[in-house]
Amino acid sequence: MKKIFILLLFSIQFSFGNSIFWSKTGHRVIGKVAQEELSGKTRRALNKLLDGQGLASISNFADEIKADRRFREFSAWHYVNIPPDKDYSNIEPSEYGDLVVGIQKCISIVKNDSNTKEDRVFYLKMLVHLIGDLHQPMHVGRLEDKGGNDVQVQWFGRGSNLHRVWDANMINDYGMSYTELATSLPELNKLEKKAIQEGSILDWVKESQEIANKLYDSVEVGEKLAYRYSYTWWGTVEGQLQKGGVRLAKVLNEIFK
Ligand SMILES: [Zn+2]
Repeated sequence: MKKIFILLLFSIQFSFGNSIFWSKTGHRVIGKVAQEELSGKTRRALNKLLDGQGLASISNFADEIKADRRFREFSAWHYVNIPPDKDYSNIEPSEYGDLVVGIQKCISIVKNDSNTKEDRVFYLKMLVHLIGDLHQPMHVGRLEDKGGNDVQVQWFGRGSNLHRVWDANMINDYGMSYTELATSLPELNKLEKKAIQEGSILDWVKESQEIANKLYDSVEVGEKLAYRYSYTWWGTVEGQLQKGGVRLAKVLNEIFK
């Protein structure tokens, strides 16, 4: 009995862990884009905290620790569920915490240099990842289908779901490394970057939620998705990766200013 239970736990964890993150590539792209937009002061502060590691290489830390029970309390930070017709500010917050709560907590801990280096580094790594998750629209999806995880579709003839299509299928099938993908994003001028950086965390959540609402309408349950779906939505994927990076830089520049 005990064995079965452990096995069950394992498989839940495994399938859960497999299906709820922007691909590693996506997070690294966001880290690399942000790295280019850091102020000198922020870069120096980050170098010290991260011992010279770049943002791309620490961007998946929060997913890597997910399978470790000691970090269970952070699982709910990777997403936030909001009904389509509501704003974050008028929902009852989850008792387990959520993406918004997580980001705010990370910012406040990293900002306070009386915290230990160990704590600041941990929450900095979390923050870099969570700003990425915030820009994967299905991380701001609906509770009843676990952010699209229960919306089954086929991806090139194989079973997938709406969440996974956006987390991983499209980006992985595009076949570029994170550096190739980051450098192939459209060039933005200063004004365009500034416009992207405007607004608050909650404004960015709202934006992702609005995209998620469109994505729910973009598929029928069981639909066979392939090239055409990518043609239609790849621009949105790129736009979200770029926004994620440019905004992550803003958040970090504000913390270390
Ligand atoms: Zn995540």
